[in-house]
Amino acid sequence: MGNADRPRRVVIVGSGLAGTATAVRLLRFAREPVQVVLLERRAEYRHAGVAYHRAGNPWHHVFNIQAGRMSMCREDVDDFMLWANDEADRTDWPPEWRDVMFTESGPAPRCVYPDYLAARLAQAAHDAAPGVELIEADGDAIDIHAHSHHVRVVVESLCLPSGAPALDRAVLDADHVVLATGLETRSPGFAAEVLDHPAFVRHPYSQPGLRRLQGARTDATVVVIGSLLSAYDVAGLLLRRGHTGTIHLVSRSGLALRPYPPDHQHRVLSLPPPDLGADTDAGADDLLRRLRQAWDAACRRVAAEFPDVAPAVVSERVAKAWEPYLPAILERIPSAELRALLDRYGSLIATLRIGAMAHITDPVHAAMGEGGRIVRSVGRSSRRVSSTPSGRGDWTTSALRCNQRNSGSTPPSYPSAEFRPYCSGTFGVSVSCHF
Ligand SMILES: Cc1cc2nc3c(=O)[nH]c(=O)nc-3n(C[C@H](O)[C@H](O)[C@H](O)COP(=O)(O)OP(=O)(O)OC[C@H]3O[C@@H](n4cnc5c(N)ncnc54)[C@H](O)[C@@H]3O)c2cc1C
Repeated sequence: MGNADRPRRVVIVGSGLAGTATAVRLLRFAREPVQVVLLERRAEYRHAGVAYHRAGNPWHHVFNIQAGRMSMCREDVDDFMLWANDEADRTDWPPEWRDVMFTESGPAPRCVYPDYLAARLAQAAHDAAPGVELIEADGDAIDIHAHSHHVRVVVESLCLPSGAPALDRAVLDADHVVLATGLETRSPGFAAEVLDHPAFVRHPYSQPGLRRLQGARTDATVVVIGSLLSAYDVAGLLLRRGHTGTIHLVSRSGLALRPYPPDHQHRVLSLPPPDLGADTDAGADDLLRRLRQAWDAACRRVAAEFPDVAPAVVSERVAKAWEPYLPAILERIPSAELRALLDRYGSLIATLRIGAMAHITDPVHAAMGEGGRIVRSVGRSSRRVSSTPSGRGDWTTSALRCNQRNSGSTPPSYPSAEFRPYCSGTFGVSVSCHF
């Protein structure tokens, strides 16, 4: 389409992995003039997002999954490893990573990922066809208006690479807009009173958050709200710096991470779709029951027919084999019920579908086994977290109901009889507030 004054323009809002990968694709495959504007509101998140940005990820934060699965291109699954092993400039890497040869099944640090994405983006821009142009702009898209032949993106604090002064507010006309804005961080209502308290860490993947964690007393009792990947990152960080105080991982599900086997490789099995019956009006409970039966049967089938699949990975193989059938399954669930089901089972689905690298889980599970240095509890903050008047930065999670304590490394089944009226700590970290 384009416009008399300019070539066709695509504005991509958000320059995390999804936005950057989309820009790379457009630059590589466009055969006619197009301007690709990659807009990012937080300079430190460019080519990174919250998951990989350097300031929020120390070197021991590794990818949740294997280095061999971090390629940004489906058609070239070794691309990240190729970059990391052969192209990355390791001059500033710390000694523990500088000479590592990355392997398909092994770990890799998250904070190198922005360099990988930036390298691939720069290469794609360089190799692009004549008239295909990349513009990386800073700015916050605050509104979008769709017109019959174009879209107007309203941007605050727009700063273009041309060096022109930043504009408080500007309008970008586009032919297409790609929203790659990622996850929004939910404000934790239960912690509204302590968000600014020095003993409460709201954003563990930020420089101030990391500083606070690294500055915590090593004998402090720490309460981490959440028990999965981010909670493990926090616990791992504390343990690495010699933490001796008890670390409580508190979550509604009480689930724990399962480590991948050391030689784990990506593989998608071919399995038939789940048999959910023909009655599409039977309701969510009936659907869940059937799904559960089909799931158990599929897991048994994988265990029997694919003896090389490690028990810890059976559920991952089933979840991935079923992915093509998901749209048809989801169509049978009204959106309001779907939201409620996801709220209830989201963590379970995540842990069934993905494991974590032993690099992340080993130190945490070892501490769980060592006489309760890490305690996993099932509970939820039903009332507000508040600070105590002691002036020492103590805070108490009033009415954080924990109906089970579990210090083992296997996921617990709930509920159990034990009841703890509240959980208190000298330091709190909220990690489970992404949706
Ligand atoms: C802590 C953490 C660790 C993770 N680790 C892994 C891992 O090891 N492996 C893995 O595969 N996945 C991991 N994930 C999942 C991860 O979210 C995805 O892999 C991926 O990074 C998501 O990319 P995205 O581009 O969709 O979103 P994001 O990375 O969140 O990027 C969205 C970007 O859009 C920008 N933005 C938002 N709104 C606007 C606006 N209005 N205007 C301009 N810009 C805007 C944001 O600032 C942000 O930079 C992790 C997630 C988290 C939170």
